[in-house]
Order: sequence, then structure tokens, then C-alpha cells
Amino acid sequence: CNSISGARSRREQVFDGEKANFLVRELRKNFDSGRTKSYEWRVSQLEAIVKMLEEKEEEITDALYKDLSKPQFEAFISEVSQVKSSCSEALQELKHWMKPDKVKTTITTFPSSAEIVSEPLGVVLVISTWNFPFLLSMDPVIGAISAGNAVVLKPSEIAPAVSSLLVNLIEQYLDNSAVRVVEGAIPETTALLEQKWDKILYTGSARVGRIVMAAAAKHLTPVILELGGKCPAVVESDVNLQVTARRIIAGKWACNSGQACISVDYVITRKEFAPKLISALKEELEQFFGKDPIESKDMSRIVSPNQFARLVNLLDEDKVSDKIVLGGQRDEKKLRIAPTILLDVPEDAMVMQEEIFGPILPIITVGNIEDCYRIIKSKPKPLAAYLFTNNEQLKKDYVENISSGGMLINDAVIHVATRGLPFGGVEESGMGCYHGKFSFDSFSHKKSVLYRSFDADSSMRYPPYTPQKEKL
Ligand code: NAD
Repeated sequence: CNSISGARSRREQVFDGEKANFLVRELRKNFDSGRTKSYEWRVSQLEAIVKMLEEKEEEITDALYKDLSKPQFEAFISEVSQVKSSCSEALQELKHWMKPDKVKTTITTFPSSAEIVSEPLGVVLVISTWNFPFLLSMDPVIGAISAGNAVVLKPSEIAPAVSSLLVNLIEQYLDNSAVRVVEGAIPETTALLEQKWDKILYTGSARVGRIVMAAAAKHLTPVILELGGKCPAVVESDVNLQVTARRIIAGKWACNSGQACISVDYVITRKEFAPKLISALKEELEQFFGKDPIESKDMSRIVSPNQFARLVNLLDEDKVSDKIVLGGQRDEKKLRIAPTILLDVPEDAMVMQEEIFGPILPIITVGNIEDCYRIIKSKPKPLAAYLFTNNEQLKKDYVENISSGGMLINDAVIHVATRGLPFGGVEESGMGCYHGKFSFDSFSHKKSVLYRSFDADSSMRYPPYTPQKEKL
């Protein structure tokens, strides 16, 4: 009897297709009631998130430490404060965003007026990932709420502390008739993906992006795919060397140990300049993380044994292991890999074929800086492309020649936090975008509305189409 009830309670806990369907129907009923559409509801939820951030900052940074050993300062700067600023922007701008956009009409419809009305899509799904598990969960949720939708969030099982904290926080602070969290891995995500959603925002790998898009296609559900790729940084020899080195380090090792979708994946520079760049990187790395960086408290660890093994595998490939010019040390128990620089690994090495997503930086040298175009274009379009130079013509050419999700000249990563810029990929690095007003627009339907009066009704447009009408 005990084992039967045990099996039953286990079954009750499983989040399967039936439970997913029930959840979506419940949220749809609440969405259809109009509850989430009002300005007041949206503001109440955004204010609740602000309150949550104020009251639970420590719990959030603690959970990020548990999942990634993310330094508290980094956790605050790159996750908590980013969510805070998304919320503040939405609260500040929401009235303006919600206002219909007036559009000029022409003589054809005279007299008339026209506008574009932003209406919520309905019930949306956000599937997020583990590297910035709080930010990449909450930021899309803020967009979905701002646009007046009901939303289900599925955080990543690879960051379990943040995932379970999100369940508690959202239960405690937000309106659960319209905002919910479902924890889980592939089975739970699959159950969710079988349902009909009005939009899905997915953050993660292109491999799973394809699964998400195929599932969405069955219901004609639009998707935003926030994927990754190999983000290049081209460094010309005319740069301020120290600033360049610091910014590359900040965009690689001080950014979640390189486990970031827009982290610098590899550097391209001139052959004769590479030794100078490497020595500046070594010097600044020591300033940042000390003589024994693997022990540094200011750098996150690798998220999981699987990811650790994948990275070690990249480093230990025969054609790579003798190209290490800095680092290479690893500590399997602590899941840590020292900042590692590789010089001139062959292009067919795995480390140059797949997204690194970790603390390894290959530097590729070229005869002419313009050779960078061939290398970058031989790979799928990246999520971000960086260039360090003072040469105005090179800047212009790079912007014109390289297609990428975003681009940043003379720095790395920080374009993601620049208000007013959309964030998203192109081709293999993703589709659609979000952040700020772009989140609001991505989670809204833009409805065209034309208003006419009964005046000036011309018989010209109606049959019978007489020869006189045809002449006109
Ligand atoms: P992942 O695709 O394995 O996991 C992401 C989410 O998908 C998780 O919630 C997971 O539960 C779910 N998932 C995994 N396998 C699934 C399956 N078979 N069916 C349904 N759902 C499944 O990705 P990852 O390894 O966590 O993330 C790494 C990738 O994400 C990198 O390529 C990185 O560049 C990219 N990324 C992109 C952004 C961005 O904003 N563009 C941000 C962070 C990471």
C-alpha cells in the first residue's frame, strides 16, 4: 500500500504533457479575462520585481555563487543590477510604449486616421539557460509582463540553486495567476513545447534552438532564439595596448570565466604584434587574478563536470596542446581552469570549430589585418564581433563587412547593457531580439487600425466598372 501511494505521489510530481496542458489552459483563461492587459497590472508586477530585488539581493547572489562560484560583485553587476535597470526602464517608459503610434494616411482613404496598436500576444514561454541564470530568466519575463502577457518561465536545470530560488521568488512576489515557473530538464521542457504558446523566447544552444523551432512550427508559434557562436575580436597594432588587454580580459575571463554568449571567443591580430599583445594580457591577467589565477576568488568556476570535460578535451587535442602560451592548468575537483592563451592553433582544431564558452583564448595571427575577414566569414555569423583600433577606415570597413548580432568597437561585451540597443543574433546566432523597448515590441502584436467616417463616400471604387471609371 505504501509503495502504491509512493508511486502515485511520484507520478503526481512529474510535470508531463497533461500538467503542461492544464497550466497553459489556466493561464490562458486568466489572460482572456483581461487581467494582465491593464497598465496597472503590468506596473504592479514590475514594482514587485523591484521589491524582490531589493529584499532578496543576497539570496540571489548566494544562489549564483552556489551554481557558478560567481563572485558577488560580478553577480551584482552582471545580473541583479541589469534586471533592476530593465525594470526601471520599463516602469519609466511603459506608458509611452503602450501608446498607439499614429500613422499618416493618404488621399486614397480620405478622410481617415490610422494607428498601430500594441496588443499582448497571450500566453508566452521563456526557456532560459545556466550561464547568467537569473538575468536571462528575468529579463525576458520583464518584457513579457511589460507587454501584458501571461508567462511561464523554464529556467535551466544546470543552475539548480537559481532555478529553485526563482520558483520561490516568483511564487512569493508575482501574480501566480499569470506568471509561473516550471523547473526541469528535457522531459519537462518537451512537455511544455508540446503546448500551444503565443510566443517562445529560448536562450541556449543552436542545437536545442532547432528543437524549439520545430516544436513551435507545429502551432505556428513565433520564436525568438537567443543563441551563441564564436565571437571574434580583431586587434590592430595601433591600439592603446594596456586598455585593450584589460578590456579583452574583462570580456573573457572576468565575464563568468568566458561562459558567456558574447564573450571574446578568439582574437585575430598581426603576426608581429602578437608577442606585445600576449605580454600585455599576461601582465594584466596577473594584476586582475594574481599569480595563481586558478585559485582566484574573482573568477567563476566551470558550471558542471560535463562542461569541464568538454573544455579539457579542447585543450588536450594533439594539435592544440603544444600551442599553449599561458595557463593550461586545471583542477577537476574545483571545476576550475586557469586563464589559457593559445597561439596559432590550426583552423581545423576543435577549439576553432566550436564555440569555446570557457576560459580558453586562441590568438590567430595574420599578415594583413584585412585577412580577418576571410577567417570570420568562414564561420557562422557570430552573436557579437569586436574590433580594437584607432583606424577610422578600418572601423568603417569592419562595420560594413562583418555581419553579426551586435558589434562593439574598442571594447567587449558591454554593448549588451547599452540602453536603446536591441540584443539578438543573426542566422546561426539567433533570430529576433529583446531588451527595453525591443522586448516590449517582441512580446506584442502590432495591430494596424484604420478609422474611417461615413463621409466622402466615392462611388468610384464600387462596381459597375464603367468605361468612364476605367479611363481614370
Ligand atoms: P542548452 O540549449 O543545452 O540549454 C538551454 C535550455 O534548453 C535549458 O533550459 C534546457 O533545459 C533546455 N534543453 C536542453 N536540451 C533540450 C532538449 N533536448 N529539448 C528541449 N529543451 C532542452 O544550452 P546551454 O548549453 O545551456 O547554453 C549554451 C549556449 O547558449 C551557448 O551556445 C551560448 O552561446 C548560448 N547562450 C546564448 C545567450 C544569448 O543571449 N544569445 C545567452 C547565454 C547562452
